[in-house]
Amino acid sequence: MLQYYKNILARHVKNSIGWSTGRKIIVFTVDDYGSVRMASKTARENLRKQGLKIDSSKFDMYDGLEDAEDLIQLYETLSSVKDKNSNPAIFTAMSLPANPDFAKMRNTGYIEYNYELITDTWQKLPGYERMKSIWEEGINKKLIYPQFHGREHLNVKVLLDLLQKKDKEVLACFDNHSFGAISAKPYPSINYVAAFEFDKYEENEALKEIAFDGLNAFEKVFGYRAKHFAAPGAREHRCLAETLYKGGIRFIDSDMIKKEHQGNMKYENSYNFTGKKNEFQQVLLVRNCVFEPNPFDNLDWVGYCLKQIEIAFKWNKPANISTHRVNFAGHIEPSHRKKGLSLLRSLLKEIVKRWPDVEFMTSLELGELIDS
Ligand SMILES: [Zn+2]
Repeated sequence: MLQYYKNILARHVKNSIGWSTGRKIIVFTVDDYGSVRMASKTARENLRKQGLKIDSSKFDMYDGLEDAEDLIQLYETLSSVKDKNSNPAIFTAMSLPANPDFAKMRNTGYIEYNYELITDTWQKLPGYERMKSIWEEGINKKLIYPQFHGREHLNVKVLLDLLQKKDKEVLACFDNHSFGAISAKPYPSINYVAAFEFDKYEENEALKEIAFDGLNAFEKVFGYRAKHFAAPGAREHRCLAETLYKGGIRFIDSDMIKKEHQGNMKYENSYNFTGKKNEFQQVLLVRNCVFEPNPFDNLDWVGYCLKQIEIAFKWNKPANISTHRVNFAGHIEPSHRKKGLSLLRSLLKEIVKRWPDVEFMTSLELGELIDS
């Protein structure tokens, strides 16, 4: 309980600085669309049988590539409310256009990293044939808007390293076309899902290539260039900003206090706020609300999120709500999606009731408003 009040106090401090507006703006920034993570329930059970510790993380338990039912039911939920301009709620879907090409890498003995665009993955998986048109429908109806969360949601260096060392867990994951619950950590500064973390500073040259290639891949998949970037697992170095700028990125997510790795385990803090600009005039966006319903806690997430929105509005700040696809994902466990969407529906209903003059926006619309 004490922790809860400390959190609330921290929210006030967080909202006291940055770009202000009298408008009541709600943005949902939702990470991880496009990422395969856990391929299926069968894959999850296979990995569990092989000893991978699946059960302590909701991502390893429930996070699978969004399927038709995930998006259709999400659209129903988002369109259950309208804002003062008669617009439905909208998710800015921070998306990854690619995943490892598990089969090709296995067949070639893991000598190099190969990826596969999700448009190709859709053609291979049963039940995903209509995904392109379902995404387009959501975009046209202003319910979902993909932006860039990296090329793939994993660190290529670490994965390749572990595959070549024949790490049992990673090989099991690749056999099951999945990546999750990997316990080996060959470099202390790199989490295997954090694509842009590195060991030595010089590795950023390779990461720049991945970022630029990823932006082109994003365009191939979604049909337009991304303008907003949030690094998968956060923690990219600022030296990526120029490459991102050349690739079309105008808005970058940042933590308020960003612990930035400088190489060889040396870290520097930078202090950020929504509306701060970097040397390329890219606008930083700091998420100030969280909605992460968790099967492993008993927090009232709807009430907690409403409290955070209330604090944001009190300080004349837009409410930028951070959440993840996993909370609304049902490919592995449909009952999990049902719970998440039901909480989202309650949250949306209460938002429009408490703040009738609310406006739902994408992160891009917010960024452009800040920049105007
Ligand atoms: Zn992510």
